Amino acid sequence: MRRQIVAANWKMNLTLQEGEVLVKEICGGMPALAPHNTVVIAPPFTHIAMVSAGIAGKEQVASGAQNCHHEAAGAYTGEVSAAMLNSAGVAYVIIGHSERRQYCGETDAMLAEKVNLALANGLEVIFCCGEPLEVRDEQTQNQYVEAQLKAGLYHLTAEQMKHVVIAYEPIWAIGTGRTASTEQAQDMHAHIRQTLNAAYGDATATATPILYGGSCKPSNAAELFGCADVDGGLIGGASLKAAEFLGIISAMVGK
Ligand code: PEP
Repeated sequence: MRRQIVAANWKMNLTLQEGEVLVKEICGGMPALAPHNTVVIAPPFTHIAMVSAGIAGKEQVASGAQNCHHEAAGAYTGEVSAAMLNSAGVAYVIIGHSERRQYCGETDAMLAEKVNLALANGLEVIFCCGEPLEVRDEQTQNQYVEAQLKAGLYHLTAEQMKHVVIAYEPIWAIGTGRTASTEQAQDMHAHIRQTLNAAYGDATATATPILYGGSCKPSNAAELFGCADVDGGLIGGASLKAAEFLGIISAMVGK
């Protein structure tokens, strides 16, 4: 059975103390997960040790990071490397989030390097893709997302792809309250799976989890996760409140 994942992206929110309370509430209220379910919590770098301590002993809950640098080490003040994340016990790293592409000038070439370094350092990659509104309006979203995947990911081997999760996040749905319809989500996820099939064959296409992200909340999670090719979600705003995040986790468990 394909892995199903609900991942929290806290972005630049919550103090250490607020985060600690949230992790306790999430762990305390966690429903029984199915064997193929995983919950990932990706806080700011400063909170990773706290999250790792808070989830200790919870086998299907993993700590994540929101980024890593595209160089292995060196004079990059303020940056954090993939090797550092691995040494801090991080299991997953989000790469290519649209906010980083947009605000931090991350290019396809940089993202491909980040992916290579993350995998070389034993991290699981959550690779984000997704189109802006103008591309959706032109109805060229399939080509746009395919180009992002080819540039950032599809140089990997099938063996490396076993450690990659794709997150489809239409930019017009992130933090806007405007969610993709189930039809829009399923169509894009099926298209992404077709591109995986064309690049790697059926085994990789069938095994790779494809998460949906963009204003996912407890009220729409079950419907979205009910789509055949949606394997969970990458959650921003709704991951900052325990009740909402737990509601989304329950929707994954119920799939
Ligand atoms: C995100 O930024 O990854 C995201 C999905 O945000 P939100 O859930 O707030 O739309």
